[in-house]
Amino acid sequence: MRSDIEIARAASKRPIQQIGQTLGIGAGDLVPYGHDKAKVSQPFIDSLQGRPDGKLILVTAINPTPAGEGKTTTTVGLGDGLAAIGKKVAVCIREASLGPCFGMKGGAAGGGRAQVIPMEDMNLHFTGDFHAITSAHNLLAAMIDNHITWGNALDIDIRRITWRRVMDMNDRALRQITTGLGGAANGYARETGFDITVASEVMAILCLARDLADLQDRVGRVVVAVRRDGTPVHARDLKADGAMTVLLRDAMQPNLVQTLEHTPAFVHGGPFANIAHGCNSVIATATALKLADYVVTEAGFGADLGAEKFMNIKCRKAGLAPACVVLVATVRAMKMNGGVAKADLGAEDVAAVTVGCANLGRHMDNIARFGVPVIVAINHFTGDTAGEIAAVQDFVAARGTRAILCRHWAEGSAGITDLAQAVAEVADAGVADFAPLYPDAMGLADKIDTVARLIYGADRAVMDDRIRDRLLSWEAEGYGDLPVCMAKTPYSFTTDPGVRGAPTGFDVPVREVRLSAGAGFVVAICGEIMTMPGLPSAPAAERIGLNAAGQIEGLF
Ligand code: ADP
Ligand code: MG
Repeated sequence: MRSDIEIARAASKRPIQQIGQTLGIGAGDLVPYGHDKAKVSQPFIDSLQGRPDGKLILVTAINPTPAGEGKTTTTVGLGDGLAAIGKKVAVCIREASLGPCFGMKGGAAGGGRAQVIPMEDMNLHFTGDFHAITSAHNLLAAMIDNHITWGNALDIDIRRITWRRVMDMNDRALRQITTGLGGAANGYARETGFDITVASEVMAILCLARDLADLQDRVGRVVVAVRRDGTPVHARDLKADGAMTVLLRDAMQPNLVQTLEHTPAFVHGGPFANIAHGCNSVIATATALKLADYVVTEAGFGADLGAEKFMNIKCRKAGLAPACVVLVATVRAMKMNGGVAKADLGAEDVAAVTVGCANLGRHMDNIARFGVPVIVAINHFTGDTAGEIAAVQDFVAARGTRAILCRHWAEGSAGITDLAQAVAEVADAGVADFAPLYPDAMGLADKIDTVARLIYGADRAVMDDRIRDRLLSWEAEGYGDLPVCMAKTPYSFTTDPGVRGAPTGFDVPVREVRLSAGAGFVVAICGEIMTMPGLPSAPAAERIGLNAAGQIEGLF
């Protein structure tokens, strides 16, 4: 089979106006970025209010393993599959972070015959949204240091500035730096650092804001530092919210592209799935729901993090309700969850697959807690044996649910029509009765404990008095009704990435809590969280270049 980029390059793209037409977006309501990308105009989005919503389908997965699960590939494939059976459908996924494309993660456009195109653009500068977010974030950083230089009227404690800088690159050398060196003309020297752009609270805000007014309001609420009397300093105290919103105006508009099979795909926003909620923008999802009968979207990491936050943060705050969840599993990942090492995945091992299905089972139970029906998609890999596939299907059937084999990576829509039929049936049946896991009114510490117990299967969340007091003080300041955003390893239900399967009898230690007042959640950090990745010893960048025809090689 050809590589992802070869398949993407060989695709016959349709003009973006034609893709817009399939959703009833007139050419005048698209703002084209070249021939194959466009933003959807705000007046058009405004004109859709009052229309009924289509059905929302979430694609999530078991805990990720190094074997790879293929959530984006399945999201895109299912979109094409629904289109192939005659449904009016749109796909909603996140934009790619440019930094990791040069490391080892690869892109975010899907793979094989289930991709969003143009994949090169999507994985690189695309329509410039991330650059705009980077600029807005760094404008605020510049205004903080500038304010201090010109007399510090807000009495900011320069030892306690929490707003860092961002850029869209994996660069470990910038994690911890000193700024303001070189004398009085350069301000006050202080320790700070860079995060990757997708970890910016501005990114989370853009993805949760309903419109530009809501965006500006949220940007104004961002807490950047504390004063010497301990009270918080907000972005609006520095009068930064207006200019930041100006920088974000175009970035706020959803981007429309197409899949290899010309299904419309909204690609917009890309918040981290640990210190943020890991889903594409609310404005893109809400717009797609007004235009299509079925909207297929994806949440980051496994269902314990991605689906939980999709439901408890995005759906709760945006008033969305999923009709069906597709849980992606692979035979290889089941084997790894059953104790097989990555190097031994080639050999058939039905017993290990069956043991590993415990992980799948817990995710199925968890989704049921939200009142949403689940279908399992087995993303087929070439080496999977009939016996191993049957083991997964038997496990799922014994729980009264279907596990459907999907070959979209190799075959495109033709390989995923069974899943598409099943998803359409379940969504149309209207059996979902969605409710978030906990009410707004529950205390913040209890919310964290509820997720740890009911989703991870832990005995409890443990936190010291310092953290409890911090949560209580935020409740007193009026932040008590915010949802919690769990930052934990994606590889395990526990906080230890090495523990696979469906473990019990463990605690979830909360190391730190952070208030994202603009995004509108409280982050509970349970374990090491990296907000500025590094590059590996042989980064993909070494293999990326232009060929003689001027085409990009080496992106994947
Ligand atoms: P996720 O969204 O879960 O991170 P992706 O859909 O981005 O995963 O897929 C990760 C990688 O795995 C991509 O390079 C993709 O081409 C590859 N992949 C996905 N499904 C398959 C499959 N069935 N067979 C082989 N490779 C696959
Ligand atoms: Mg993905």
